Amino acid sequence: MIKVAKFGGTSLADATQFKKVHDIVKDDEERKFVVVSAPGKRFKDDNKITDLLYLTYAHLKYSVPYAPVLKLIEDRFNLIKEELNLSIDLEHEFEIIRKKLDDKCEEDYIVSRGEYLSALLIADYLQCDFIDAKDVIFFKYDGNIDKKKTQEKLAEVLGKSKKAIIPGFYGSYPDGSIKTFSRGGSDITGSIIASAAKADMYENWTDVSGFLMADPRIVKNPQQIKKITYQELRELSYMGASVLHDEAVFPVRQAGIPINIKNTNDPENPGTIIVGDDQADENYENPNIITGIAGKKNFTVFYVHKEHMANEVGVIKKALEIFEGKGISIEHIPSGIDSFSIVVPTESVEKLTHEIVEELKTKLMTQSVKTHKNLSLISTVGIGMAYKPGISAKLFNALGENNVNIRMIDQGSSEINIIVGVEDKDFEKAIRAIYNAFVK
Ligand code: ASP
Repeated sequence: MIKVAKFGGTSLADATQFKKVHDIVKDDEERKFVVVSAPGKRFKDDNKITDLLYLTYAHLKYSVPYAPVLKLIEDRFNLIKEELNLSIDLEHEFEIIRKKLDDKCEEDYIVSRGEYLSALLIADYLQCDFIDAKDVIFFKYDGNIDKKKTQEKLAEVLGKSKKAIIPGFYGSYPDGSIKTFSRGGSDITGSIIASAAKADMYENWTDVSGFLMADPRIVKNPQQIKKITYQELRELSYMGASVLHDEAVFPVRQAGIPINIKNTNDPENPGTIIVGDDQADENYENPNIITGIAGKKNFTVFYVHKEHMANEVGVIKKALEIFEGKGISIEHIPSGIDSFSIVVPTESVEKLTHEIVEELKTKLMTQSVKTHKNLSLISTVGIGMAYKPGISAKLFNALGENNVNIRMIDQGSSEINIIVGVEDKDFEKAIRAIYNAFVK
């Protein structure tokens, strides 16, 4: 069994956190490949190393002496080194960085040094191999990953190592220069390594024990989600739950490797396991039937009514073209017999509402166009809901009993979610009502 473990910035913020990572990796022989972020914040108003590196580059760019900022970074790494009694020659590493800066290096090079140094330190601490990401993760000049070259090289290099640390967040262009992923990109590295290593599990270590069924700012002590499918996760993240980036999930999802979200500060907690959609049926036992609830506020509805619309062809198309022409993305289009509504994020139509209403009236030849602001959308997600009667009745009942007026209902044909639209003022109350109705 092979596990790839990726540790985020808070897991490596200082020597105490390094020690936890060390113990977690040592604790399980199967954790063969470890991907690390740069040290993150130690406390609320602290700085992330990567942010300081961006700041260093900004100094260089605008010809302001960068030394004081770089010193902050150097001090943080030195402190970790000293507290852990490590032997790595950081002075030499910073000499190289300074030289590169003085030669006017690229931004991507400098901002990648957080991950690079973090990986060097932990490799020294764990006494295992260090694999520089620039030698195994390859980009094409168009900025996309060169999948074939990366896979081949990784298969070769990982095959030779018993235990290795790989810095996240960057790789290299064909000419060897450094190229980084977007911010938070160590997750992408972790997922690429897991896929190349044909891992049985990709562990993503952070500072929370996986995902919660609802936002804890709304529901008090929500239950933890033990298992979730990629599809459910996508539904929840789309509706605002902060989870992994799509790009970061893709390589492991494609390879059918489950992801385990774990907490470095509570390693015994099983966390949340994300499984393939096809692995869900047999292993799926969710006592609550629903998996999670997420939602977003601030939508605007354009309600269009036209006599005998049902007999006319192309009406909705004409309406959609108006939005398309203004580059506005549409969330939902619930429809009736002679009417339909178009739901969009309020911020995207804030200054255009009147213009859109007028255009709808003219192009669709109807006087009946109304708008309504302050709509919230709440998605209740769970593959356990599919083909089970009575679920929506339970949900609507719960909302009714709590005096929440439902303004819109939408259920995807896959039946893994039910979306309701409620007034913004009822948003929190509605989420609590749904949660309490389903979760014991
Ligand atoms: N250190 C990088 C960032 O802060 C990448 C990462 O942590 O995933 O964005």
